[in-house]
Amino acid sequence: GGRIGIIGGGQLGRMSAMAAAEMGFHCHIFSPRDDEPALDVAPSATIGAYDDAAALRRFAENVDVITFEFENIPAESIALLESLKPVHPSRKILEISQDRITEKSRLNAFGLKTAPWVAVTDPDALASIEAALGFPFILKQTRFGYDGKGQWRVNSPQDLEAIQETLPYPLIAEGLVDFDRELSVIVARDLYGEASCFDVTENRHHHGILDISLAPARISPELAASAQDMACRIAHGLALVGILAVELFLDAKGELRVNEIAPRPHNSGHWTQDACLISQFEAHIRMVAGLRAQPLTRHSDAVMKNLVGPGTEVAARRALETLGTRLHLYGKAEARPGRKMGHVNALFPKGALPGDLGLAAALGPILNDGLE
Ligand code: ATP
Ligand code: MG
Ligand code: MG
Repeated sequence: GGRIGIIGGGQLGRMSAMAAAEMGFHCHIFSPRDDEPALDVAPSATIGAYDDAAALRRFAENVDVITFEFENIPAESIALLESLKPVHPSRKILEISQDRITEKSRLNAFGLKTAPWVAVTDPDALASIEAALGFPFILKQTRFGYDGKGQWRVNSPQDLEAIQETLPYPLIAEGLVDFDRELSVIVARDLYGEASCFDVTENRHHHGILDISLAPARISPELAASAQDMACRIAHGLALVGILAVELFLDAKGELRVNEIAPRPHNSGHWTQDACLISQFEAHIRMVAGLRAQPLTRHSDAVMKNLVGPGTEVAARRALETLGTRLHLYGKAEARPGRKMGHVNALFPKGALPGDLGLAAALGPILNDGLE
């Protein structure tokens, strides 16, 4: 056993706590609300705001080791927790990934390519973006963005003029990568410095939100190995203990560029629940609990389809009736537009992942119909 504290009560915490329970670990959740998805499966919880020092202290008293499923924890809160109990992944990694400028600087320092970028810390810096990157570019809030929120695509000086009064600072400007595919890799690294990667995932977005993930990604073995090697470099470079997701672009020239990293379970890794011996959630818990990294073997090909917003109920019922699919719902009551309600994993024998047409035929009942 052992008591694992998870900061954040969302679906990533819920699925981590479920994996932990199967291995005999007790999870204790820290959440600002008492109706979050993780609390259904880990009823022992501390409810408090992320900056409530007294609540954070009470939480720490209840656990042996601390991890998180939510990235926007205030720096002072993580510092406080780190003074009380071990925190994995470390505060340093969390802080790097919380800020797109420190994140990209660090990635580039590791010798990894990203989109070309410039920091835009105040309105005066807007004028210099064109010379540095040209059009088109994307402006992103440096902190707190997810599902494409806090981003502006700028195709022309007119576009920039239209939005410039409303922009928040600091921002980062990124050149638009002309990508063939979006990929991700999840790496697990243990306390002893051993790292292991899941197979590379291919990701497709819909209205800025991850829609489907395919595993394995349909890329050459050399590219796949190179993406995994990049993820390992990041994990070792940051002395990761835990798991970390790396989002990548495969650009039109066939080069890999890192988009962003997330030191936690990642939506694009949900397929591992049903297609791997050890899921990303189990790997996360194992690393945090001090167990050794194991090969992250995939036994099936898989497609993960996110169930987002209204329409989820219909899609979920169809998924239950479609052969070869497994349904995962997060227990959220209200299906607001854009809200992640659950996902479906469709499994295929290893090596038998169909092409796009075959996928449409095999997964017709659960692809977009009834969903936004
Ligand atoms: P997430 O939900 O993955 O945390 P996010 O809000 O942090 O998303 P990003 O991952 O930076 O945002 O961007 C969202 C999507 O927008 C990317 O997956 C990609 O499709 C597109 N995108 C972002 N940056 C670029 C870029 N520089 N060039 C081309 N496309 C981009
Ligand atoms: Mg992000
Ligand atoms: Mg992203």
